Amino acid sequence: MKILLNKLPSKKADELINFYSGLKNKFLGESKFNYECDVCGSKEYTVLGDDVIRLSNTKLYLTEDDQKLIICKRCGCVRKSLVFPDNFYYDFLNYLYNIVPCSIDKSMIEKAKLRAQMCIDYFQENSLHLKSVLEISCYDGVTLDFFRNFFKKKTSSETFYPTTVGIEPTTFAVQFAMKQFPHLKGKIINDLVENVDLQKLTHDYKFDTIISSYALRMVLDPKKIISDIAKKLSHQAIFLVHEGSFINSNMLSLTTQQLFRQFSQQKINYFTNHGLKYLMESNFFKFYKQVFHDSDSLQGVLMAFKYNQKVKADEKDLELSKEASNLCLSYWRTFQKDKKEFLKYLENIG
Ligand SMILES: [Zn+2]
Repeated sequence: MKILLNKLPSKKADELINFYSGLKNKFLGESKFNYECDVCGSKEYTVLGDDVIRLSNTKLYLTEDDQKLIICKRCGCVRKSLVFPDNFYYDFLNYLYNIVPCSIDKSMIEKAKLRAQMCIDYFQENSLHLKSVLEISCYDGVTLDFFRNFFKKKTSSETFYPTTVGIEPTTFAVQFAMKQFPHLKGKIINDLVENVDLQKLTHDYKFDTIISSYALRMVLDPKKIISDIAKKLSHQAIFLVHEGSFINSNMLSLTTQQLFRQFSQQKINYFTNHGLKYLMESNFFKFYKQVFHDSDSLQGVLMAFKYNQKVKADEKDLELSKEASNLCLSYWRTFQKDKKEFLKYLENIG
C-alpha cells in the first residue's frame, strides 16, 4: 500500500486505512480479476497504471500493487483489474469515499433541469406524458423532487404527480433526501442497485423514465442491470445515463482538470461515449440524444436512450470508442508525468 495523498490528521487517516484494510481482507476471498470487458466482451487488455483508491474525497488517496486500471484492447474502455462483491462497495460508499450531501446545491438543480429538458423533448416528440420515474443513485433527492413538480398535471379539481422512486446506497444521503422532501419517504430504497429486484420493481411501477445518476460506471455487471430494467419496462421508455465525464469523443468538452483526474474517480468502468452507446444498444436501448455541459460547478455528459427491442448494436461504435480512448489516454499519460499538478487536482476537486 502506498499513500498518494493524505490531508487528514494521522489518527483519522489511520482509522480510515484500518477500516479499508479490514474491509478488503473480509472480501478478498470473493474478489476476482475483471477479465472480461463489460462493453464488448473482449478478454484482451493492457495495463494503464495504478488504480487510485479514494478513501476520503480530496483528503486521502492510495495505490496498491494488486489493483490496476486496465484498457480493453478492442474498445479502449478502461476498468478496474480487481473487483469485489457488492457488499464491499456498499460499505466502501457508506464508511469511506466521503461524498455526502450537506445542503441543496444549485448545481444539483441545474442538473435536474437538464434531465427534465431531455425528457420534455422526448415525450413531446412521442406525444406522451411522463408518469413514472426511477432514479438509480438518487443521492440528495433533488432530481426526483424536481421531476415530481415539473411533470405534475393539474385538472380543475385535482393535481396528479408522477410516481417517483429512487435507489441510493449511501444511507446518509437517503436520510437527507427524505428530510428535505418528505414526499420521498418510503420511495427510496437504501441499497445498491445490484441488490434490488429490478424486474419486479419495473413491473410494479411501469416506469417510463429511468435515470442513472453518476451510477452506471460504479455497478458490477452493468449489462445485467440494463437488461433487467428492459425486461419489464413501459413501452417507449427513456433511459438517461448521466456521468461526470466519459472518456470522451468530444475532447473540446473536457477541461484540463477532467483529463488529469478522470481515472481517479473510483469507478469500476470508465466508458467511452461510443462504448456506452454500444453497451446500451446491445441491451434494448437505442441512442436518442446527448448533451455535454461544462461550467465550473457542473461538468458532464447526459446521454439518452429509448427503449427499442429491435435495436442492434453497431460494431462501428467499438472502432470509434477505441479511437477516442487512444486520444484521451495519450493526453492522460502526458498529464500524469506532472505528479504535483495531478495531486493538486485530487486535493482541490477530488
Ligand atoms: Zn471492450
